[in-house]
Amino acid sequence: MPTLNPPALTPRPRLPSWLRTPLPSSDTYGHTRALLDALRLHTVCESAKCPNHWECWSRGTATFMIAGDRCTRACGFCAVTTAKPLPLDADEPLRVAEATRRMRLRHVVITAVARDDLADGGADHFRRSIEAVRALNPHTVIEVLVPDFLDKDEAIDAVLAAQPHIFNHNLETVRRLTPAVRSRATYDRSLSVLRKVKARCGDTLHTKSGLMLGLGEADEEVLEALADLRGVGCDLLTLGQYLQPTIHHLPVAEFISPERFQRYAERARQLGFVHVASGPLVRSSYHADEFHPPSVA
Ligand code: SF4
Repeated sequence: MPTLNPPALTPRPRLPSWLRTPLPSSDTYGHTRALLDALRLHTVCESAKCPNHWECWSRGTATFMIAGDRCTRACGFCAVTTAKPLPLDADEPLRVAEATRRMRLRHVVITAVARDDLADGGADHFRRSIEAVRALNPHTVIEVLVPDFLDKDEAIDAVLAAQPHIFNHNLETVRRLTPAVRSRATYDRSLSVLRKVKARCGDTLHTKSGLMLGLGEADEEVLEALADLRGVGCDLLTLGQYLQPTIHHLPVAEFISPERFQRYAERARQLGFVHVASGPLVRSSYHADEFHPPSVA
């Protein structure tokens, strides 16, 4: 069985110096806030209480979260609200496209809450969002960060039909800790999703995944997860420190040093990942534009 402590009311420890983040440094933060409000868009930056929120919005970037702000799952690490979702907003893909245009994003990341209440898990809403973004922003790299869609072929194919450049699905944690960390998701199902995407698309698309570290995983478990991801052809990797978003979420077991993140990055590159982002504040979409697919002009 997993060995995490129960999450209930676990006090949050003091952060080490390398995890302290600066406050916004430009007017761009306010502009980003105003634009998102005007277009009635949700972001995972806010909903998941991302520690890079100030920095990314001050750079004029954000990660759009479509299909509402209520998730049908209740993962122990995630601050997104769990509740009965509202119906899909048919105009949302157009507003995501418009925000991408106004923010002049050369790389957009679109994620969503898990919508297990929908037969396709929200996959067609992703397809429509990708198509709308491309129609208005033909030179923008489009990255989707998707839930597991319960590994349904039709859902995966719906997203792929819109030809995103990067298909990101997070493994989140090592095999042993998955049942305690992720609600409903399984380690093997996530690997299966990534395997299917690579089998269908080959080198025409990059697959990407990531892990949160600091939940109590051992070195060898992290290396096993990296090898498993390479085993399904995953191209791009992110590794970051798990931070407890509220006292009701899983506690941090350990703060991983920047040096250890670097060691994992070196090992990942040796395993053949095309691009690796590894550091305490790295998140799936943090500085996502630093990897530019060679196939995109
Ligand atoms: S790292 Fe990603 S989720 Fe976090 S603030 Fe930046 S764009 Fe948003």
